[in-house]
Amino acid sequence: MAEPPRRGQVVALLANFCWVSLDQPGPAGQQRLLCTRRTRLAKSGQAIRVGDWVQLDGIDWAAGRAAVAAVEPSQRVLERPPVANVSRVVVVVALAEPPIDPLQLTRFLITAEQSGAAVDLVFSKADLGGPVLVQQWLQRALAWGYAAMAVSSREPASLEPLRQRLSQPGLAVLCGPSGVGKSSLINALIPALELRVAAVSGRLQRGRHTTRHVELFALAEGALLADTPGFNRPVLPADPTALMACFPELRTAPADRRCQFGDCLHQGEPGCAVGSGWDRHSLYSQTLQELLAAAQRFDAPARTGSAGSLRQRGNRVEPRLAAQYRQQSRRGQRQQADAELNHPSQEG
Ligand code: GDP
Ligand code: ZN
Repeated sequence: MAEPPRRGQVVALLANFCWVSLDQPGPAGQQRLLCTRRTRLAKSGQAIRVGDWVQLDGIDWAAGRAAVAAVEPSQRVLERPPVANVSRVVVVVALAEPPIDPLQLTRFLITAEQSGAAVDLVFSKADLGGPVLVQQWLQRALAWGYAAMAVSSREPASLEPLRQRLSQPGLAVLCGPSGVGKSSLINALIPALELRVAAVSGRLQRGRHTTRHVELFALAEGALLADTPGFNRPVLPADPTALMACFPELRTAPADRRCQFGDCLHQGEPGCAVGSGWDRHSLYSQTLQELLAAAQRFDAPARTGSAGSLRQRGNRVEPRLAAQYRQQSRRGQRQQADAELNHPSQEG
């Protein structure tokens, strides 16, 4: 009798196979199946990533085998490591060794925010930090919009709040600069990894651990953690609007603090309601200038004077908007903003 189609999430890739974790257990309680790819799928060149949701057919429950018939559309794909459907990016920085660099931390947070996943902030090596520094950073992070956690992989009890957060359904990836203790945290959170490292530490198999693909491990039902840390270099967004969206403290500005002009960069423009009275303003400005300078380098030869190019204003650069957009921004956006302020949800 033909099996009805099944659905599952790819948790590990091997050369010609992948492990798929079923969204519902099989008839004998099977949780995962070793799957091949159907020829047609393989020929179409459609890549399967860890984290992808797939449909299965040709299921052989007794052998624990099946074939991937189709890959469902994915969201929130992380390039490094290649993981699809990431729901949580945890940015890790150490309280000491190396000490926190607020600009670097902000750049990592921006990179994480761009993924569209929920972003968590974890301060590692809390055992080296001292309670005053820990409290200072937790409070500072709160003002930035992050309910951060301080952990030490040397103190298992300190990991519990993080473990709990990572036990919520979804797929989490740890990211951050190298040397902050990400691998130590992953090893502490996934006991199976220590066992596997021990199992492959024999001389013949030494290379295997370093070259294998990313693999997902369940910390709780439906809660997966990637065993490989994500990006360890920050990437800035391409335009100022995207940058602003990466600052939770800007996203949550109340409606009565809207700037006069919709394209306000919060750099001292007239009618700016955000101003500079917030902790990360200088970090935001620095990042903005960097982004604009990069955009200018990219833009200048081909598109001088067109929409999306930049102009120098005093000692800073600003995007130069196309003429039609400039008019729209000064008149239309102002009217629109006024209308929204005066009549938030109904027709005037
Ligand atoms: P990664 O590059 O972010 O993966 O960092 P690792 O996990 O490789 O750790 C880098 C160094 O920091 C290693 O020497 C670890 O032993 C050390 N380390 C990691 N976590 C802790 C911690 O919680 N406390 C202390 N004191 N050292 C740590
Ligand atoms: Zn503003």
